Amino acid sequence: MKESHFNTRTVHFQKKEKARNMSKAKPIYQTSAFVFTDLDDMESFYEGEKEYLYTRYSNPNTDDLGKGVALLEEADDGVAAASGMAVILAGILAIAKQGDHIIASDDLYGGTYTLFAQELANFDIEVSFVSFKNLDDVKDAITEKTVLLYTESITNPLLRVEQLAEVIQLAKAKKIKTIIDNTFATPYLLQPIKLGADLVVHSATKYIGGHSDVTAGVLAGEQSLIDAARAKIVTFGSNLTPFEAWLACRGLKTLSIRMERQSANAAALAAAMEENEGVSRVYYPKDVSEKGNGAMVSIDLKQTVNVETFFKSLGWVKIAPTLAGVETTVSYPIRTSHRTIPEKLRQELGIGEQLVRISVGIEDERDIIEAFQRAITLAQSK
Ligand SMILES: *Cc1c(COP(=O)(O)O)cnc(C)c1O
Repeated sequence: MKESHFNTRTVHFQKKEKARNMSKAKPIYQTSAFVFTDLDDMESFYEGEKEYLYTRYSNPNTDDLGKGVALLEEADDGVAAASGMAVILAGILAIAKQGDHIIASDDLYGGTYTLFAQELANFDIEVSFVSFKNLDDVKDAITEKTVLLYTESITNPLLRVEQLAEVIQLAKAKKIKTIIDNTFATPYLLQPIKLGADLVVHSATKYIGGHSDVTAGVLAGEQSLIDAARAKIVTFGSNLTPFEAWLACRGLKTLSIRMERQSANAAALAAAMEENEGVSRVYYPKDVSEKGNGAMVSIDLKQTVNVETFFKSLGWVKIAPTLAGVETTVSYPIRTSHRTIPEKLRQELGIGEQLVRISVGIEDERDIIEAFQRAITLAQSK
């Protein structure tokens, strides 16, 4: 399928069934292990002729997800794991060893920040947090121990688009690897591997799954790094379950049409919020790709808008500490995703009390805009 176009690949990424039953949908291999007819047959697994032995090592459903995302990212290979966090850790440990140094963006998903700030020191891996806005700051932070630059393609919740090509170029010039968290952009909008990134991580819990019913992660990239990361996932036991993988694969098939609609709705909502007198600032990325700019919009409400009342007045738009589902949802970053970020850093980043993050769904754009306009009006002091 490598030769076909993106929208076709999103639907036809799964390996053909060898089974005689010819099920149209891929079956769920809800099994912990695979059986063998005799000892020679089992030996054939170790000789690389048979693919499956034990689900913690690999399973047809989890393989489909890893390889499906790799196909869309145009990467050598991919591997799925139990969550976005699980693949981030596996990706880091595939590159960084004891004594190594990592430079990470200071504007990261809260869970990633906690992993880097609190856990990596236990592996004797040092992390410097640097703003990726100015590449000279990144360059200045590089030491002879630096092995990796880590950033997100679109940051959360302020939706800044990183200068990925420049970051990757800098890393290559210094023989340093790059990992890009491409969760917010998805390969529909951006393919960091094509820009030269070594690994891409996805919280498949978000747009890849797309329906808020699965927790999963995918890592895609260069073959030797994926092999190393897969070995970590196997050993840590952070593998994805077959059913979750199956659900994420089902979600992946509609990635293109969801992103198309959700990005268009988000652009319309961002434009309406720009016009709204209760909003002091709209964060919506520009120039992410010719296909659109993603489905996340953040807004700073004016001080005259009561945040508590705003959240109570949203009607069918629910508050959810996640994003990327087909339903429009809102979150309050300082109490959820960015709760663990130190207050001082939060203020420096501009993540304040009036900031609301909106994950735009597939509903009719008129209803979405109306819901937000109404909530702002109801929450505005007279
Ligand atoms: C949600 C998220 C993660 C973590 O993914 P989980 O599936 O919750 O482990 C990492 N990065 C970004 C950008 C996210 O939005």
